[in-house]
Amino acid sequence: MDILDQDIMFLTGVGPKKKEILSKELGIQSYRDLLEYYPYKYVDRTKLYLISELVQDMPFVQIKGHILSFEEYDMGKRKKRVVAHFADGHGVCDLVWFNGIQYVYKNYLIGKEYIVFGKPTFYGGRFQFTHPDIDDANDLQLNDMGMQPFYSTTEKMKKVGLTSRAMERLTKTLVAKISSPLKETLPDFIMQRLHLISRDEAMRKIHYPKSVDDTKRAQLRLKFEELFYVQLNILRYASDHRRKYRGYNFKTVGAQFNWFYTHNLPFQLTNAQKRVMKEIRADVANGQQMNRLLQGDVGSGKTLVALMSMLIAIDNNFQACLMAPTEILAEQHLQTIKEFLKGMNLRIELLTGIVKGKKRKEVLDGLIDGSIHIVVGTHAIIEDKVQFNNLGLAVIDEQHRFGVAQRAKLWSKSTNPPHVLVMTATPIPRTLAMTIYGDLDVSVIDELPPGRKPIETVHKYDSQTTSLYNGIRQQIDLGRQVYIVFPLIKESEKMDLKNLETGYETLLEVFPQYKLSKIHGKMKDKEKEEEMRRFAEGETHILVATTVIEVGVNVPNASVMIIFDAQRFGLSQLHQLRGRVGRGAEQSYCILVTPYQLSTETRKRIDIMCNTNDGFEIAEADLKLRGPGDLEGTQQSGIAFDLKIADIAHDGQIVQMARDEAQKIIDADPTCTKSEYNLLWERLKELRKTNINWAAIS
Ligand code: ADP
Ligand code: MG
Repeated sequence: MDILDQDIMFLTGVGPKKKEILSKELGIQSYRDLLEYYPYKYVDRTKLYLISELVQDMPFVQIKGHILSFEEYDMGKRKKRVVAHFADGHGVCDLVWFNGIQYVYKNYLIGKEYIVFGKPTFYGGRFQFTHPDIDDANDLQLNDMGMQPFYSTTEKMKKVGLTSRAMERLTKTLVAKISSPLKETLPDFIMQRLHLISRDEAMRKIHYPKSVDDTKRAQLRLKFEELFYVQLNILRYASDHRRKYRGYNFKTVGAQFNWFYTHNLPFQLTNAQKRVMKEIRADVANGQQMNRLLQGDVGSGKTLVALMSMLIAIDNNFQACLMAPTEILAEQHLQTIKEFLKGMNLRIELLTGIVKGKKRKEVLDGLIDGSIHIVVGTHAIIEDKVQFNNLGLAVIDEQHRFGVAQRAKLWSKSTNPPHVLVMTATPIPRTLAMTIYGDLDVSVIDELPPGRKPIETVHKYDSQTTSLYNGIRQQIDLGRQVYIVFPLIKESEKMDLKNLETGYETLLEVFPQYKLSKIHGKMKDKEKEEEMRRFAEGETHILVATTVIEVGVNVPNASVMIIFDAQRFGLSQLHQLRGRVGRGAEQSYCILVTPYQLSTETRKRIDIMCNTNDGFEIAEADLKLRGPGDLEGTQQSGIAFDLKIADIAHDGQIVQMARDEAQKIIDADPTCTKSEYNLLWERLKELRKTNINWAAIS
């Protein structure tokens, strides 16, 4: 048996109770699991500072000395602060605790030598350490004081003594116990080319580094390996898929496309739109199945690109479908498309959950007999009951809610899989796209239609409503319209609704001279539509809404977007909402309203919004602030984010390296038959077996 498969209970220091907690809290059951539980940071403990050397704004440091005396301060409400005066022969500083005071008295003795570790702050004329890490100086000298690893732990773990320190001891015990070198998982030629250390060395150094350099080399090796196999998996999958399925060949660009282009297209395409159309045309005519991701900021004109691609499908006697994430959006797409294709004698139908009974049957029949050219809808389209005569192209708008699994369902709708164009208005940073949509080719519309002025974004506190209302009046008196958005969070729909209602009442009072529309998710679709129509046609001046207007709605005359409680929205959502304005020729504004009290992170988000209109920049920032796991859509994307050490947000370069190496391998051995790559294919198989999420896409 591989020693790594050994039950964690056989490790010194782990009994049944700790085993249970480790398994429940972290999923650690075997030696391997523990070995792959990596530290999240290291602190250099090779250097001791003198108290007299401390200066302001230092990172974590350690000092060695003894406690002179304790002092207690009353802080009201039965709260106490205890301060230990601590000296090292060169100066005195304070150690401060706000709770756990009994523990402090019991464990820390006056006069005994300690090593104190923490971040010094300057307060009341001297340095202090708040809730510092304290070790017996004698204990620590037993350790060789190198880089100290920190492991994340949970409350439940701490209760049974599994602190970061305890985890450190366990991993060290384990590393010592593994006497023969760990099996290598990367071929020599890759390690040599990229100057990577061996897996064995990396595993030992990641838990037991002696220097900063050790941690860096170990991290690089392990991060690369992890990302490399993710990429190899994706590219392998894409390559197999391409070899297995042929794509429909859309040979001609014919009558429908040309008619549309010369008679119906109301404006010039932007250069970016032209470029993307060329990419798509090349894709659908090369005998392979297209799998393309179309990224473009809100308002960049993706819908038009989708429409023209669908016309090419129709010109080649295929059907096309367009799927949107919501019913409202599907209906809007339907209208837009019908408008664009006026007079062209094409059958375009809607298929969503609300299309029922006789109408539904008509649509289903039309899809099977081929009389419908384009169907626009929601998830309803991928239901098993829906059959096409010959689906040639599927366009998926706002892909977040469509994962690989759903795409696979689409493929089963015709003999060959249809070409797939996935559109997203939330630009995805390159490295993330490479990982979640790694099997897709990417097109980017990086240019807005001409004549758009950048939207001006301003942050206001909710105490500044007077100037806010004045601004609204000014704009409406200039003939413009205004969106006012209140947050909607599912868990507290009732409360949100109340928010919206109260807000609406207030606005009615403030603006008796204007007409208001109101839209929220609890309304009937008919009512929603009616309200939306009134606003779109300029009958009402202000549209008060929840985030139902987030995607798609198009009212070029609206020039102001006001978002109340903006702190409750994520960056990409704010950016989407903002994209509702700035669609006409007039200067547009986005006002983010928040309370005065904001967390640092929220303030950063608001600042980013005020400083840039660039969706890619916002997406990068979002990724860095929230991490990829939280990004909308990544969970459903079908590819695991249970990366153990790499971090897509910060390891972009390594992602690229991994991608390049994986591509080289796929190109060199497309059929997995060359012996020099055997190690890689075996390892990939192993990983696919143990990783459920990977299995889902393979
Ligand atoms: P997206 O789906 O990328 O958010 P849309 O396709 O909804 O953007 O386009 C936004 C608006 O810009 C629509 O009113 C559309 O008709 C218009 N539009 C698209 N392409 C152009 C263009 N090349 N020139 C002028 N207007 C355009
Ligand atoms: Mg759109």
